[in-house]
Amino acid sequence: MIIIMKMNTVQQNIEAVVSRVEKAGFRTHLSVGEERTIIGVIGDERKLDRGAISRMEGVDRVVPVLRPFKLASRDFQPEDSKISINGHVFGDKKVIVMAGPCSVESLEQMRETAVAVKEAGAHLLRGGAFKPRTSPYSFQGMGEEGLKILAQVREETGLHVITEVMAPEQVDLIAQYADVLQIGTRNMQNYALLNAVGQSNKPVLLKRGMMSTIEELLMSAEYIMSNGNHKVILCERGIRTFEKYTRNTLDINAVPVLKELTHLPVVVDPSHATGKWTLVKAASKAAVAAGADGLIIEVHPNPAEALSDGEQSLKPHRFVELMSEVRRVAEAVGRTI
Ligand code: PEP
Ligand code: MN
Repeated sequence: MIIIMKMNTVQQNIEAVVSRVEKAGFRTHLSVGEERTIIGVIGDERKLDRGAISRMEGVDRVVPVLRPFKLASRDFQPEDSKISINGHVFGDKKVIVMAGPCSVESLEQMRETAVAVKEAGAHLLRGGAFKPRTSPYSFQGMGEEGLKILAQVREETGLHVITEVMAPEQVDLIAQYADVLQIGTRNMQNYALLNAVGQSNKPVLLKRGMMSTIEELLMSAEYIMSNGNHKVILCERGIRTFEKYTRNTLDINAVPVLKELTHLPVVVDPSHATGKWTLVKAASKAAVAAGADGLIIEVHPNPAEALSDGEQSLKPHRFVELMSEVRRVAEAVGRTI
């Protein structure tokens, strides 16, 4: 349930309610708005005396939250969450662009890509060092050596880096090098991993499972948040449907639906959503028009030679073109980039 306090009620009243709820064995989450404070209550609400709480000084009303996700819900926190990485804020007016290859392949490849995407206006660098490949015989990533390359290129270019973590035991190692931890589509419901990243203090980009509902995505965000880490960025990356022309189907509906249901920032991955570089620009523009807070896009200096996802990777000059068109869409919907 949420306890909505009266407008401009004094701090003492808020503290009294929080203390009563916590003494009854519940956890609370405070959302301090411009005019009023909302106290979110986490626990089995049937055991709390709603009537007694609603009669407390400064309480406007007590409302049950029927949705299964709480910390992620807009009922608990009406204002958008803002997550800042190197001064680039997800969930604000600016559309944040993360770009780079699917996999880290060498220092030269990362350096060349980073310089090019930065020049084109990207804000963060992406690159996988531990790769979740469908086939065990495909390139599995460079591992820690890849992380070192990412850190070096960050040093050289100033671009902060996002990279995937696939297992709970990798979290500490990857957190030493990365600025954002990515949970891939295949691990969206790996609860041990969600708990582990929830205990780290790094922002997490949580990708929607390719066969998961929007509610399941939010429940996975709830796992991370209930462990104390509220810096969660959601990512729509396409879902499986009967359509075979594209690798996945970009569920553009998910963007406004998520913006209604949650205060967390929402980004779109047009590369995995389409699987074809020719479609990435159109999908990016659609995402920004629909209200996405950011994009994560695969760019490779030589897609034909890429060790993974070359078919959907943009050459740097195409990324430049994409950025200039996306910028116009962003401006048309009152955003910057
Ligand atoms: C990736 O970002 O390269 C990746 C593997 O993405 P996803 O988990 O969405 O397939
Ligand atoms: Mn990829």
